[in-house]
Amino acid sequence: MTYVSLSPKHHEWRERAEEVARRELAPRAAAIDRESRYPTESMDTFRELGWWGLRVSEEHGGLGEGLLTTVLVVEELAKRCPSTAMCFKMHLEGAELVSRVPTQDQVDRLVSRIARGEMLCTIAGSETGSGGAWNPAATNSAVERVDGGYRIDKIRKGYVTSAHTADMAYFTCRVGADTPQSQTSALIVERDRIDWEVVEPWDGLGMRGNASSPVLFSGFVPKENLLGEEGGSRANTPKLLPVVLATYAAVFLGIAEGAYDALAEWIAEPGLGGMRRVDGEVLLRRMAELDIDIQRTQAFIHAVALAYDEGRVDSLLPFYQAKIAASQTVGRVTTDAMTSGGGTAFAKRLPFERYFRDGRAAMVMGFADDGAILAVGRTLFPKEQAPS
Ligand SMILES: Cc1cc2nc3c(=O)[nH]c(=O)nc-3n(C[C@H](O)[C@H](O)[C@H](O)COP(=O)(O)OP(=O)(O)OC[C@H]3O[C@@H](n4cnc5c(N)ncnc54)[C@H](O)[C@@H]3O)c2cc1C
Repeated sequence: MTYVSLSPKHHEWRERAEEVARRELAPRAAAIDRESRYPTESMDTFRELGWWGLRVSEEHGGLGEGLLTTVLVVEELAKRCPSTAMCFKMHLEGAELVSRVPTQDQVDRLVSRIARGEMLCTIAGSETGSGGAWNPAATNSAVERVDGGYRIDKIRKGYVTSAHTADMAYFTCRVGADTPQSQTSALIVERDRIDWEVVEPWDGLGMRGNASSPVLFSGFVPKENLLGEEGGSRANTPKLLPVVLATYAAVFLGIAEGAYDALAEWIAEPGLGGMRRVDGEVLLRRMAELDIDIQRTQAFIHAVALAYDEGRVDSLLPFYQAKIAASQTVGRVTTDAMTSGGGTAFAKRLPFERYFRDGRAAMVMGFADDGAILAVGRTLFPKEQAPS
């Protein structure tokens, strides 16, 4: 149930995603987590369905779907397998960044291939200790400008989702060692045209199927692969962040909902003494509170996505807020699911601990909570100019 008014097309998408997630993702989710296995089969399914081009415009061969549809799809996937949903989200994010400011040459060589399912995208933004890919204060290493393009000399990006399989990455950098950190550039780095070395396996606390490994990049990137203006990638941020943040929010909301559903199923069963667990007052109250939390976060995220699709949002504020709301909700729901499941949950005999670990990525991922909270504060209370 969502209290935001969905069109028949939204309903159709949601049902389709729910069916695919139940059939394709749910049976593999536990093994993907246990074995830290990349969800190749599910990513292939999305490709066959044309979903790699979900948001690429119809003009460029994609499905041209709006943000609310995207949120509904990602949310359904995350309920069943957070790792798979996150790999797909990072593809959508990369595709979005490449599709929003392309030159005609980039459309022909890259965007239309994303739409055809020939190119899997990722983000090579964060360097370890840099403050996070989308943080306005993030730091990036420098590439050198050379004849016809840019030379990357052993730049290590700390977390590149789909590191072994992505065909291209949105790569953030500075051009020239003297360029200030505020003048970030974005390059499209193609795996088969550069040295792309996956440095170590991914062994995270959660999101264990993500293959978010460190990658060492070296080689030449042609100037045709510069996205937008040199030094100007932050100027494009307002165009890009709504989708980046709303899809993060959708993943973390979906994890909260998946954990809640698993908990609801478990507490309906009889415990010791034959009584249903939910008939105990503590669990009953907890379920009520978690449901309220999920409902309000979901309504907010869906409303923000719909408002964006209808051209009614002119600020990044609700997107930062949506990401933070989802992060808080997933933290609370998955923690309470663990408490409710007691030692049995702790001993990994219930599905809650996987949701708990996956949900923890919300604190540090993408626009990490610290940065997103500050962005909310600064938007509400802009800094005053120093008196001249
Ligand atoms: C599962 C997973 C998948 C990921 N996938 C990708 C990916 O595909 N592509 C990609 O580019 N990145 C990816 N990341 C990286 C992620 O987006 C963050 O950049 C990264 O987790 C930050 O970790 P760090 O140790 O480098 O943090 P640090 O930069 O050392 O920061 C540590 C803490 O301090 C806070 N902090 C630091 N500086 C500031 C500041 N200026 N303002 C406010 N707070 C600050 C941070 O928010 C963080 O909470 C992934 C991370 C995870 C966990």
